[in-house]
Amino acid sequence: MRVKVLGSAAGGGFPQWNCACSNCRSVRGGVFPGRARTQTQLAVTADNASWFLLNASPDLRQQILATPELAPTDGQRSSPIAGVVITAADVDFVMGLLHLREFQPLRIYSTRGVRRILTEANTMFRVLERAQPPVEWCDLPLGKEVPLTAGPSSHAGAELRCMAIPLHGAYPDYVDSTLRETLSPEEAVVALTLTNGQKKAIFAPGLPGDAAHWKGFLQTSDLALLDGTFWSDGELAAIRSGSKTARQMGHLPLSGPGGLLEELRQQTRPRRVAIHINNTNPILNEESEEHRAMIEAGWEIARDGMEFVL
Ligand SMILES: [Zn+2]
Repeated sequence: MRVKVLGSAAGGGFPQWNCACSNCRSVRGGVFPGRARTQTQLAVTADNASWFLLNASPDLRQQILATPELAPTDGQRSSPIAGVVITAADVDFVMGLLHLREFQPLRIYSTRGVRRILTEANTMFRVLERAQPPVEWCDLPLGKEVPLTAGPSSHAGAELRCMAIPLHGAYPDYVDSTLRETLSPEEAVVALTLTNGQKKAIFAPGLPGDAAHWKGFLQTSDLALLDGTFWSDGELAAIRSGSKTARQMGHLPLSGPGGLLEELRQQTRPRRVAIHINNTNPILNEESEEHRAMIEAGWEIARDGMEFVL
C-alpha cells in the first residue's frame, strides 16, 4: 500500500489568504523557517493502478496536477482515480468533489449522514451525476470493513479495505437544523482504517470526543496520520478573541493535559504523523520549541509530497 500526502494543512491552507498571524506573515515575507502547505489531502493505492482519494480538499485540482501518478494515461478522458472516501461533510473535506465534475465516473464512499447532506441539501453536487455512468455513492458502514473498488463489477483496487470508526463529533454548522435532526450523530465524523494484506494505516484529520473511541485501533496499525490541527486548546483565541477552543472545534490539541502527545506517550507503535496542521500551529516553524517537542516525542510532521509505503 502506498499513501501519498498531497496536502497537509488544515482548512485555509498555509498561508491562509486572510490570515495575518505571525506564521502566515513570515511565509508571505519569505522568512519562515518551514514550508507552505496546501489543504489536507491523501491518495492511497494497493496496486499502483487504482487510486482512492481520502477526502476532497478545496486544493484538489492543483494537488492532482502536482502528482504524476494521478495523471490520465490512455489518451482518452480517463483517470487513475477510482474513488473518494469522505470522513465528514466539512467544506474543507468535500469541496474538492466539485473539481472532479468533468464527466468522470467515480465511486464516493461516505456514511449515510454525510451523503444525505451532500446530495439532498447541497444540490450543486448533482453536477457529479452527469458522468456516464454517474458518480456512485456507496455506504460506508460504521465499524465494518468494506473493499474499495472502482465499480460494482470491477476488481480494481479491491485489495484495499476500508473501515469507518465513529468519532462522535458533530455535523458542520452549515447543516440545516431540520435535516440535522434526521441524521445519525454517529455518522457525522469518522476515522478511516485502510488495510492491505497485513498492513494497516489509520487517518483521522479531526479527533473530536473521547480518545477511547479511537485509541484501540492505533495498536494494530502500522501508520497513523492524526489530527495535528492545533498545538494548544486556546491557540485561536490567543489570536482572535472569542474564537472557539480546539476541543470545541472537534480537534484534540497536541499539547497539554489529555492532548495527543500525552495520550500516545506510552505507545511505541504505530508510526505517527501529525497532519491537518492549522496555519497558527507553532510546529510549522522548524526552529520552534514545539517542533522539537514533536520530534522528541517520536512524531513526524506531515508535509505536501510525503509518501509512505507499507
Ligand atoms: Zn495564519
